[in-house]
Amino acid sequence: MATAAFTTEPTDPETREEILSLVKQFTDEQIIPNAEHYDSTDTWPEPIVEGLKELGLFGVTLPEEYGGLGLDLQTYARIAEELARGWISVPGIVNTHFIGAYLLMKFGTDEQKQKYLPQMATGELRAAFSLSEPHCGSDVQAIKTSAKLQDDGRYEINGQKLWVTNGLMSGLVFVLVVTDPDASPKYKGMTCFICEKEPGV
Ligand SMILES: Cc1cc2nc3c(=O)[nH]c(=O)nc-3n(C[C@H](O)[C@H](O)[C@H](O)COP(=O)(O)OP(=O)(O)OC[C@H]3O[C@@H](n4cnc5c(N)ncnc54)[C@H](O)[C@@H]3O)c2cc1C
Repeated sequence: MATAAFTTEPTDPETREEILSLVKQFTDEQIIPNAEHYDSTDTWPEPIVEGLKELGLFGVTLPEEYGGLGLDLQTYARIAEELARGWISVPGIVNTHFIGAYLLMKFGTDEQKQKYLPQMATGELRAAFSLSEPHCGSDVQAIKTSAKLQDDGRYEINGQKLWVTNGLMSGLVFVLVVTDPDASPKYKGMTCFICEKEPGV
């Protein structure tokens, strides 16, 4: 059964302002002075990602039991807004990771949560989400990439995906595929696979 993806308990305003002021300082001191360099040279902003990790920003909405900050969605949205003030690419790194964490929290098994969420909360393991294909993006029901169960019990995924934000540097990709082409409605025949990969490959 699906569970809550993040706390419904509002974060107290003092805690929210405290973290926002740290993020504001980080944006002013670490992002704004370096954004043009990273953007114009198309360089992965490793020191910025390390700073995001130190601030705990890969686990803002994850429960404390998994090592997250356990803050509410409004706080998360304000943090993303503040990071975007510095450079729009930075919240992209955090947001696609958030989509993966959201899916795990809402639909993952206990085993999957225990395995991935603690490393995701620290940012040691970062996630990407892969839905779009060359012929579709917002028309999700048109995806063609499929997964078929093999004789050895594993699934083989075949198809073409693109526009995967954070894809290269992630260690985990949540890939949406068709597992039952005859299902009606179509979304009932779709599965999101958790694919592990080497960051940078
Ligand atoms: C910066 C960026 C990052 C991205 N990151 C990811 C990612 O991490 N993972 C991923 O899977 N994808 C990612 N994408 C892809 C993105 O999700 C798709 O491009 C998006 O969903 C749009 O789909 P599309 O390209 O098929 O365009 P279309 O859906 O074909 O849209 C084209 C135009 O048609 C309009 N349109 C579409 N449907 C309708 C409708 N029913 N009625 C009226 N008008 C309509 C749209 O408004 C748009 O103007 C990213 C895209 C960008 C720009």
